[in-house]
Amino acid sequence: MLSAVKADITTLQVDAIVNAANNSLLGGGGVDGAIHRAAGPDLLNECRKLGGCATGDARITKGWRLPAKYVIHTVGPVWHGGGRGEAELLASCYRRSLELASGAGARSIAFPSISTGVYGYPTEQAARIAVSTVREELEKYPGIEEVVFCCFSEGDRAVYDKLLSQLSPFMEGV
Ligand code: ADP
Repeated sequence: MLSAVKADITTLQVDAIVNAANNSLLGGGGVDGAIHRAAGPDLLNECRKLGGCATGDARITKGWRLPAKYVIHTVGPVWHGGGRGEAELLASCYRRSLELASGAGARSIAFPSISTGVYGYPTEQAARIAVSTVREELEKYPGIEEVVFCCFSEGDRAVYDKLLSQLSPFMEGV
């Protein structure tokens, strides 16, 4: 149900892919640029109507030319050293994305490693939050059957694989 792959997220055949967007939702570099290029100009037109998005929140659009039916645009925190609520904001990105995916009826969803590119969040710390938040939240959404952590490097994938092979904290001692 939870897995890590090394892939370009724009190629994944899932119901929803998550975009690590910025507050404007008008496109950018990294995974955001790749998603807009692959989805085509209709995605930007749809995003323009949304009026931006707060950090830690998310918005949903169609996937347009992507294999995915939906794109969930979430805005991760910029890393400032950890003292500015970054962990809570990052967890909120995963929570809000799952909520929107579930509301749209998505059964499968792929996340990139939010905030760990240009926004500078340390990969391992971000991955811990990603895995623990998704594990916790999925209990609420039985309709979501598959969550893919889409990594862009083998190193990132190894980090996720290690976390996924560990028992979740509430399972320990069972
Ligand atoms: P942020 O601004 O949230 O840090 P970035 O796009 O700079 O977002 O990076 C987030 C993560 O997405 C990084 O791990 C980066 O390597 C990865 N990434 C970049 N392009 C893609 C892609 N096409 N598919 C999946 N992941 C990608």
